[in-house]
Amino acid sequence: MHSEPILVIGGGLAAATCVTALREHGYTGELTLVSDEKHLPYERPPLSKDFLQGNSGLADFTVADDDWYRTHEVQLHLGVAAESIDRAGRTVQCTDGRILEYGQLVLATGSRANTGQGLPGSELPGVHVLRTVDDARTLRQVLLEGTRVAIIGSGWIGMEAAASARQRHAEVTVVSPSTTPLAAALGEGFGSYLTGLHRDAGVRLVLDTRVNRIEARGRELILHAGDRQISADTVLLAIGASPNLELARDAGLETDDGVVTDASLRTSDGRILAIGDIARSFNTRLRRQLRVEHWDNAIRQAKLAASTLTGGDAEYDWYPYFFTDQFDLGMEFVGHRLDGDTEVVRGNRQEGQFIMFWLREGRISAAMNVNIWDVNDSLRALLGRQVAPDRLADTSIPLDQLADR
Ligand SMILES: Cc1cc2nc3c(=O)[nH]c(=O)nc-3n(C[C@H](O)[C@H](O)[C@H](O)COP(=O)(O)OP(=O)(O)OC[C@H]3O[C@@H](n4cnc5c(N)ncnc54)[C@H](O)[C@@H]3O)c2cc1C
Repeated sequence: MHSEPILVIGGGLAAATCVTALREHGYTGELTLVSDEKHLPYERPPLSKDFLQGNSGLADFTVADDDWYRTHEVQLHLGVAAESIDRAGRTVQCTDGRILEYGQLVLATGSRANTGQGLPGSELPGVHVLRTVDDARTLRQVLLEGTRVAIIGSGWIGMEAAASARQRHAEVTVVSPSTTPLAAALGEGFGSYLTGLHRDAGVRLVLDTRVNRIEARGRELILHAGDRQISADTVLLAIGASPNLELARDAGLETDDGVVTDASLRTSDGRILAIGDIARSFNTRLRRQLRVEHWDNAIRQAKLAASTLTGGDAEYDWYPYFFTDQFDLGMEFVGHRLDGDTEVVRGNRQEGQFIMFWLREGRISAAMNVNIWDVNDSLRALLGRQVAPDRLADTSIPLDQLADR
């Protein structure tokens, strides 16, 4: 088995899954992980859900414990950032002065939360972002019964944090320039449904509204949005994330809103791979470059990288998948939806248990199960198939028989 040293940069799910998968693939050479976080690599989805609600601890979503890294001889450098890559010398310079050698290098530097640069007041005490477990811990401490929290942004993290804050009995206002939260990702129909759930749970939604500045007035924070003023004790900026590309860009690797890779996840330098949130990789099924900022992608690309590094010839050929949990709603989405795709609902949306399909040129482009479990594999199997809308909507036809005709 290839025994050149492998160095993985990153402390998230992609980095940790890559080292665990390398050992599972029988790679016995030198293996090192460098992360600028001081914690062992962990998963992020609970940070806006159970952990924020106070229902889980870091150990519950740490990818592998200390003992695993020790017994599998993975060198860990935590709390240390990789500063620069010398591609000719095949070394990485770290902030603690160390220079690490590699034969093959994996970049898994993920994303960082946008901090509202350009939004006056975004640097004030009491204005938070939510990306790391430390961010979530700080936010959790102030989300108490009656706290007035204003969330700027109505994407996944904004809406999940809104649900968690309501579950902690905080007074929640979401302010967003969108007219329907999450409609850009899932269409107007589902966006409106989700908006209704939030309103019913007591979330105040101030939509079609842009915050111009945040002002500290005594102990209060005032959001100025046009001629509106919204008072809060705490503000969460949930205005998206940006990939951490500096290391790759400074090393001269090809980037384009992501580190560009081929279908085996190799970058423009064949000794360097990129995975997870930062990778803009060629998807052989969809025949296009894709950058996906979701949990499942971090895991699957990490496993694919481990296979590539150990001589495998697998490719990035799967449809994107993601999930969310908000209040009593849990859903999983698979596929690649585009605006203009036709929506078909299977089941009753009002009863809160249904499946949505999207069709493009008569073929299923995406599907989503809402509060119906153990069906996502069947939905994945239907992607790309031609099924008439009336059959899709007919709940008397089992999912695995939909494509029979
Ligand atoms: C609050 C929250 C909730 C989420 N919920 C969901 C969900 O419900 N469903 C879903 O599908 N996805 C969800 N996601 C997205 C999912 O967590 C990400 O797609 C996933 O974390 C990506 O993993 P990654 O390892 O590529 O990047 P990251 O998790 O961002 O990890 C990158 C790591 O690299 C470190 N790093 C960066 N630069 C350097 C450097 N130069 N040197 C050393 N280390 C460095 C970072 O500090 C970080 O530890 C959520 C994300 C967040 C923040």
